[in-house]
Amino acid sequence: SRREGFSAIPNVKWEDVGGLDSLRKEFDRYIVRRIKFPEDYEGFGVDLETGFLLYGPPGCGKTLIAKAVANEAGANFIHIKGPELLNKYVGESELAVRTLFSRARTCSPCILFFDEVDALTTKRGKEGGWVVERLLNQLLIELDGAEQRRGVFVIGATNRPEVMDRAVLRPGRFGKLLYVPLPSPYERGLILEALGRKKPIDASVDLCIIGQMEACENLSGADLAALINEAAMIALEEKLTSTESTSDAAPSTIKTQHFERALGKIS
Ligand code: ATP
Repeated sequence: SRREGFSAIPNVKWEDVGGLDSLRKEFDRYIVRRIKFPEDYEGFGVDLETGFLLYGPPGCGKTLIAKAVANEAGANFIHIKGPELLNKYVGESELAVRTLFSRARTCSPCILFFDEVDALTTKRGKEGGWVVERLLNQLLIELDGAEQRRGVFVIGATNRPEVMDRAVLRPGRFGKLLYVPLPSPYERGLILEALGRKKPIDASVDLCIIGQMEACENLSGADLAALINEAAMIALEEKLTSTESTSDAAPSTIKTQHFERALGKIS
């Protein structure tokens, strides 16, 4: 497994993200352009937020868009899961937080991504509560050191914003709240198209129409990724079976019927 706090420029591109257009515009203003063209921001005396909280149901692209932002900005990306920072001996958690921020500064411009950030900022049982509180205090100290945070942007992600301590949602901390919703029928089509770029989708397939089918109601981006994978497996299975029985050139694309069968399986 990867070393904790490992940094690199992610290989997720904007075109890998389906939908989420308004979010993309926000991040473009607040992070990407600010890193690429800092001079555009000079002279207005504006304090622009450097901390963001993405919230919403699981599997809708929070991690994906954070990675795309880093890629687009040419920034390093450090991915840290909230609970990982907690699974340490007392005292080690605070050190881990300090180390994390100092590493982020060393490789700036950098995006520090806290997945499941609610784990760090929720009150727990007695024992846990104390550890969490010390860790939270350290986190606040680091977040408030904005002066020394040049080029370090912090993005948190959570499915449960309501359990988070209000103190972390203030400006300068995770100050800008951005909702990442379940995709609309139209956006489901865009997500399928983004995911389909790396799959042999038959030219006859209209992913936009598939995304709008009733069977896709309430599917998240992660569900759609599973759907496309299932359709690909069904197409592959068919090809393998047909090459066993005949020597004809076997079908090697994913067709609408494969999507229909995949939908039957997952729903
Ligand atoms: P969680 O809250 O469970 O961490 P998340 O919102 O961070 O979820 P991601 O990890 O970004 O979700 O998404 C999981 C996978 O689902 C992605 O790797 C991708 O394959 C697919 N996916 C989700 N949303 C989108 C999207 N908007 N466009 C394209 N693919 C998506």
